[in-house]
Amino acid sequence: VTALPLPPLKVLVAAPRGFCAGVDRAIMIVERAIERFGAPVYVRHEIVHNRFVVDTLKAKGAIFVEELDEVPDGVPVVFSAHGVPKVVPAAAEARGLNWLDATCPLVSKVHRQAERLVAQNQHILFIGHAGHPEVIGTFGQVPPGTITLVETMEEARTVRVSDAANVGFLTQTTLSVDDTAEIVAELRRRFPSIVGPKGEDICYATSNRQAAVKAIAHACDLMLVIGAPNSSNSQRLRELGEREGRAAYLVQRAADIDWAWFEGVRTLGLTAGASAPEVLVQEVLARLAVRFTLSVEEITTAVEDVVFKLPRSLTA
Ligand code: SF4
Repeated sequence: VTALPLPPLKVLVAAPRGFCAGVDRAIMIVERAIERFGAPVYVRHEIVHNRFVVDTLKAKGAIFVEELDEVPDGVPVVFSAHGVPKVVPAAAEARGLNWLDATCPLVSKVHRQAERLVAQNQHILFIGHAGHPEVIGTFGQVPPGTITLVETMEEARTVRVSDAANVGFLTQTTLSVDDTAEIVAELRRRFPSIVGPKGEDICYATSNRQAAVKAIAHACDLMLVIGAPNSSNSQRLRELGEREGRAAYLVQRAADIDWAWFEGVRTLGLTAGASAPEVLVQEVLARLAVRFTLSVEEITTAVEDVVFKLPRSLTA
């Protein structure tokens, strides 16, 4: 019996995609800590929002908890890439814990900007998503009452501050570039003397991944984004595909693919959020190759060479 030829599928793979420098560094901090101090090493919150990464580190000896009081005395603890409120390292210090900070340096930069604005008596309007650990961490850098969350355009139109002449703004690092530009423009219109970063604080990895999706979405019938539902930058990539008028789904791994999505699809766009490893992209491509005759083309819109240094306590 001759097997029927597999239907053709063109796959446009976005580049850059997947791991950013902050995620690379955070994972390396946990791995190095295990090598140096021995297992177990505790990690407060998912080191990055990806189940595969978390499970791989668990197998190497990491134990994931949500709060510091779940960490026993005498073992090292790593804080996740998203950053933590100031009270967390302070509590670790008070307990004499060996703590390591895997906060992405680009998030730490926003933390320092927040402190600076408050020192200048500016009230901070913070553009971000309620409940995301990065937002909780940044709010925890400054006294309560000095920072207000602005989540939507509607909130940008209506937010009130006690002194409109002394306002600053900052943003989460993993927002939609387009939405944030609109919100910032509205804040600048309402508060002409507002101080803040030149554009926003969206990181290079987030904006590069969004630009890469924009470059391929128009040519695709379907977009798949490899990433976790709680990964902010992955969700933004999926939304972007949708806004370009494409069916767009987030999958954690190949097993999450629903083949009904491929009905009538000739060209697929594929990308991965900043916390999703390349091995999962390759897994999806391998799974696709079982059902289709693939022609894979990588579309590169930027080349990244950012590398962040590890904390000195792990390199000395
Ligand atoms: Fe840092 Fe951006 Fe990566 Fe977040 S997405 S860890 S801010 S480089």
